[in-house]
Amino acid sequence: MRDSMLFIGSAYPGISSKIIMGCILLCELLLLSSVYSQPNFQRQRERMVLIQLKSRDIYHHATLEAMGKVPRHKFVPEDIQGYAYADHALSIGQGQTISQPYIVAFMTQSIRPKKDHKVLEIGTGSGYQAAVLAEIVDSVYTIEIVDVLAREAENRLKNMQYGNVKVRSGDGYHGWPEAAPFDAIVVTAGAEEIPMALFDQLKEGGKMVMPLGPHGGIRQLVRITKKKGEIRIEELMAVRFVPFTRNKN
Ligand code: SAH
Repeated sequence: MRDSMLFIGSAYPGISSKIIMGCILLCELLLLSSVYSQPNFQRQRERMVLIQLKSRDIYHHATLEAMGKVPRHKFVPEDIQGYAYADHALSIGQGQTISQPYIVAFMTQSIRPKKDHKVLEIGTGSGYQAAVLAEIVDSVYTIEIVDVLAREAENRLKNMQYGNVKVRSGDGYHGWPEAAPFDAIVVTAGAEEIPMALFDQLKEGGKMVMPLGPHGGIRQLVRITKKKGEIRIEELMAVRFVPFTRNKN
């Protein structure tokens, strides 16, 4: 300490050591206060699970656990990380959004995911829904039509050690035939009709959850179950979602 003070003293002749010590103290105080003012994301996540999920109608244990574990703030742009656990959707760029935490949990719960399941997601976006699913099931396949989002999500999931998620860039309308059949399919973009290629890639008894209805309007979140090869459809709730788009070629 004495040596460094002498060094500082000699490097800035004319400035008294008391002033220098004062500056050092002030810097340390500023540093400490910035450390303590860091948002506590873990606590925000616990509150989100309690207030936005449990106190509503999310009861599926594995879903609640996954929502309490996945660091949602790492899936949104850095400048809005402070809002990551808020009760609404957020913009992730390219005109796309990360869904409200409650909707992610509701869709996850509604497919009744189990450990040995293989799940397909259409609409990777940030990769958050895929990560939540990957905490619960053995393998997740996810397709994103906006190439830059697909690449970003793939890197993000890889860096976060989600080795059981495969990301593909492209139009999810045709599903992922090489990996089919799936126990469940989650479509996170609103379509006007049921994409039949996706239904075909469901196992018997498998479930597909998706927002269905006219573009620009309120859609119904529906759960489709494959029963003896036939479509059984249940309406779950009214929702707003970005549209399911198609590649031209
Ligand atoms: N599940 C995402 C949120 C997705 S928003 C998350 O957790 O962050 C819906 C996404 O669906 C958008 O990124 C949009 O680009 C994508 N999408 C729309 N139509 C698609 C299609 N035909 N195939 C694949 N992705 C599509």
